[in-house]
Amino acid sequence: MASSPPHILLFPFMSKGHTIPTLNLARLFLRRNATVTIITTPANHSFISNFLSDTKITIIDLHFPKNIEQIPNGTESTDKLPKISLWPSFAAATKLMQPQFEEVLKNLPHLSFMITDGFLYWTVESANKFSVPRFVYYGMSSFAQTVSRILVQSEILREIESDDELFSIPGFPRVKLTRNDFEPIFTDRKPKGPHFEFIKNCAFSTSKSQGLLVNSFYELESDFLEYWNTHFEPKAWAVGPFCLAEERPNQDCKKPWWVRWLDEKEEQGKGVLYVAFGSQAEISAEQFTEIKSGLEESEVNFLWVVRKNVSELGDGFEERVKERGIVVKEWVNQREILGHESIKGFLSHCGWNSVIESICAKVPVLAWPMMAEQPLNARMVAEEIKIGIRVEIGKNGFVKAEDLEKNIRELMEGEKGKEMRKKVKEVGEAAIRAVEEGGSSWKTLNELLLNDFRRHP
Ligand code: UDP
Repeated sequence: MASSPPHILLFPFMSKGHTIPTLNLARLFLRRNATVTIITTPANHSFISNFLSDTKITIIDLHFPKNIEQIPNGTESTDKLPKISLWPSFAAATKLMQPQFEEVLKNLPHLSFMITDGFLYWTVESANKFSVPRFVYYGMSSFAQTVSRILVQSEILREIESDDELFSIPGFPRVKLTRNDFEPIFTDRKPKGPHFEFIKNCAFSTSKSQGLLVNSFYELESDFLEYWNTHFEPKAWAVGPFCLAEERPNQDCKKPWWVRWLDEKEEQGKGVLYVAFGSQAEISAEQFTEIKSGLEESEVNFLWVVRKNVSELGDGFEERVKERGIVVKEWVNQREILGHESIKGFLSHCGWNSVIESICAKVPVLAWPMMAEQPLNARMVAEEIKIGIRVEIGKNGFVKAEDLEKNIRELMEGEKGKEMRKKVKEVGEAAIRAVEEGGSSWKTLNELLLNDFRRHP
């Protein structure tokens, strides 16, 4: 450990999926006696201070710009955007906070390094101006990062005829993907426009950064981490799973009603499917109806967390399934649910946090990717690490109730589900070993903290 404790600045992107892991990363540093300062905006401040209420951190607020076209003033998180299509405007607007960010850097002269979100690409310029090493964090698996990077540099997409034709990734013959697994921005022959410019800026600023932090562990994706560190820059450091740094919820506190419901199911010896699609997914009314039918027909016990479309539930669904299913319309502690003994499967959109949290809780996944790099995570879950199965997704990404029903039964009651449950237990145990003293992530974090990047870049 360096002679004086390091002071680390963290700047997460304003969405729950990016903020939560960054806060758990803060815990890892705090356990190594580091001083941690977190940059955010007023609307996200209380979430952060509550999440880390048992720790000593400093939070500094920057003011999010107002009067951004189509973004209602006061929207300071992508989870609260009226439409996900406004995401690029929101991300671009963060750059307007750069002068305030530089004021903060001026007043913090002894920073060891900063970790800022990959989407806050402009922070690298400020870091260089103030000679603070910048590490970048994207909240993606090494698998998704490595295959995307290989693909962008290869000619392969030009040779593919159709969106669902399987092809293998150069360097990884076993990895089979389709064009549908990527956002159009990566597969367009001549990409252009503000979203493309944004992605280019992020990629460029990553290449100018000191390192890339990965919320994963070596044993889970050693081939992809090795490939990245042999072929690409900056160096990737896998120091996760970050969620294992989170404290277990205090059992003396009053349990939320849905956890008490899970307790009852456990007492009755019944397994429960957890259904949740993260903090941002947009689900059409038509699709919502199919999910309801799929759950109803499958006859399994379930706990479904819904964020939007609540009005679509007003047809007696909850009453009809009340003996075996509940719908929760509030923010839940997902880790608490996944860690509950009654949970035997997770129907998930495969945001990377959800996948890694499911692994750590040793719960197999029914993968239903919806956007961003989620299709790659779903491939990883089903075909690479084999801890889950993929939902049958039809044309335009639509999933039919009967397919969902079949897949749910397969995971919860079938032979495949049994196999996946066994596998995820092994992988989950490896995750725990990785963060324990002497484990791969523990050692990598030590190495990171021992380096004085200011003097030895
Ligand atoms: N989450 C939660 N409660 C909720 C919804 C989400 O705790 O009601 C957490 C979840 O545990 C995960 C994050 O929010 O840490 C969502 O991240 P993920 O990458 O899975 O999906 P995203 O929201 O980014 O699409």
